[in-house]
Amino acid sequence: MGKRLHEKVAQFQDATSIKEAGLYPYFRPIESGQDTEVIIDGKRVLMFGSNSYLGLTNHPKIKEASKRAIDKYGTGCAGSRFLNGTLDIHIELENRLAKYVGKEAAVIFSTGFQVNLGVLSCITGRNDYLILDEYDHASIIDGSRLSFSRVIKFAHNDMDDLRQKLKNLPDEAVKLIAVDGIFSMEGDIVKLPELSDIADEFGANIMVDDAHSLGVIGHKGAGTASHFGMTDKVDLIMGTFSKSFASLGGFIAADKDTIEYIKHKARSLIFSASMTPASVASVIAALDIIETEPHHIENLWKNTHYAKMLLNDEGFDMGPSESPILPIYVRDNAKTFQTTNILQSQGIFVNPVVSPAVPSDSSLLRFSLMATHTFSQIEEAVDKLSKAFKTVGVSTVKEKI
Ligand code: PMP
Repeated sequence: MGKRLHEKVAQFQDATSIKEAGLYPYFRPIESGQDTEVIIDGKRVLMFGSNSYLGLTNHPKIKEASKRAIDKYGTGCAGSRFLNGTLDIHIELENRLAKYVGKEAAVIFSTGFQVNLGVLSCITGRNDYLILDEYDHASIIDGSRLSFSRVIKFAHNDMDDLRQKLKNLPDEAVKLIAVDGIFSMEGDIVKLPELSDIADEFGANIMVDDAHSLGVIGHKGAGTASHFGMTDKVDLIMGTFSKSFASLGGFIAADKDTIEYIKHKARSLIFSASMTPASVASVIAALDIIETEPHHIENLWKNTHYAKMLLNDEGFDMGPSESPILPIYVRDNAKTFQTTNILQSQGIFVNPVVSPAVPSDSSLLRFSLMATHTFSQIEEAVDKLSKAFKTVGVSTVKEKI
């Protein structure tokens, strides 16, 4: 048995050719904090691949709050929220988050991935329907696989296709449409007003994953529903702390009954240890900052508009992105790896996104902005991107015309 298993894993070839070509871009060890500049292999690299949109991971007030929480509560909770792992600060954070996103109640999990796994696997069941955007995050897909409900996917942000799919479902069935607020690779925003009208027409509920929207869009960064002024139309709002909130963990917010149900049914909550005191305290401190210091979100958008303008001037194809996530389409896996490698050697970190994560004619460099980038860092990155495209032989849209 053991031997067969080893034969199977030893045959894994997916990364071999990229490794042999010296282009392997994953698990790159960073020797510093997650800031606009990081240290890799002893060298300074400009970070354009982080999800720390507000650049708060080294904020002194947040670090101080984490340290104080360790002094008071220790390093871990040694149990799940359900049993011995609930601290007063877990409850404080849940109350703050519910208020922040405009819902009655919230519950926090130890990662955002676990929120989607736990919520989607318990909230709908046999004979119910989960309706997903084809580009939804992997954690939504995996949560839907763990649920016993029927799963239906519609074409990305295509409201005609969504309507078509809903038309075929039984009237009386429970239906939940689960979508990303800002899509994690493409950077576009869900068409919530149209989606909400369709949901009303067919009696469906809505869940929005705001992993990339919190701290980015909406009133004081409160996310997608707030951005559209439609908080009452979204039944479940999910968020993570691993991006703008500079920490680790996640939450789901909804009406009191739904949260009470999730607290007693979501297995990734009940059977997993709770968020560490340091993480909880850091999120509370980040929320204080996000709610009272608007310049972080303003700077993020200034940087996003500036980068977009420079990239547009150079003729890069960025699709319909409307956020600090700028997908720079290369549309060829090998060239995407080559460009990433050249950029890294020139001190620019971007993330390659290739098939099967996206169709192979959609492979891209995921270029993301932080509030703390300077204009000169952005200029340096765009200049090096243009040169790397030329070296590898990728034409920008402007050059193709
Ligand atoms: N949802 C989306 C849209 C995400 O992009 C991610 C993380 N990349 C998650 C959920 C999972 O969040 P976490 O990293 O907190 O587990």
